[in-house]
Amino acid sequence: MFLSVKEMELRKIRFDETFAPGQIDFSGEALEQSSPLHAVGSAELLAHSDGEVRLCGQYTVEMTAQCDRCLGRARFPLDAPFDLFYKPMSLIAREEEVEIDEGEAEIGFYEAGGLELEDVLHEQILLALPMQRVCREDCKGICPVCGKNRNEGACDCRATSVDDRWGALRNLQL
Ligand SMILES: [Zn+2]
Ligand SMILES: [Zn+2]
Repeated sequence: MFLSVKEMELRKIRFDETFAPGQIDFSGEALEQSSPLHAVGSAELLAHSDGEVRLCGQYTVEMTAQCDRCLGRARFPLDAPFDLFYKPMSLIAREEEVEIDEGEAEIGFYEAGGLELEDVLHEQILLALPMQRVCREDCKGICPVCGKNRNEGACDCRATSVDDRWGALRNLQL
């Protein structure tokens, strides 16, 4: 859905959109959208702001990724509000030296007369996901020796690998 600034000049745009899995591409981030993405909110042009747009609302979705530890499925139900500000890209081109300070870092930029809601949601979802994607906090991961998923039960590798290390040490001494 394109949020046109021209339209915002006339009125605040309200949206209530549902995107089925596949409509927004997450394949580049090794992510899968595992539920419909629902977003409600509004986009408005701020008065006396030189084209600054405020986009706020709320979205819900469930994302799935591969667990960093056990390679199983890690599910991330997200339900988050957003309140974002965007300035026209042309503003940077005009002011050659735009200093982006700490506060400004929160501000995004738009081109071509508006914003694609899909792009905004894509970015918000990536930001909302944790750096470490695990299926659960206490995921035990896979055994580096036999490859067994330790969440499904212990394996006998620990004793063996300790023995191997002693074996290597003995070989060194010889
Ligand atoms: Zn895991
Ligand atoms: Zn093992």
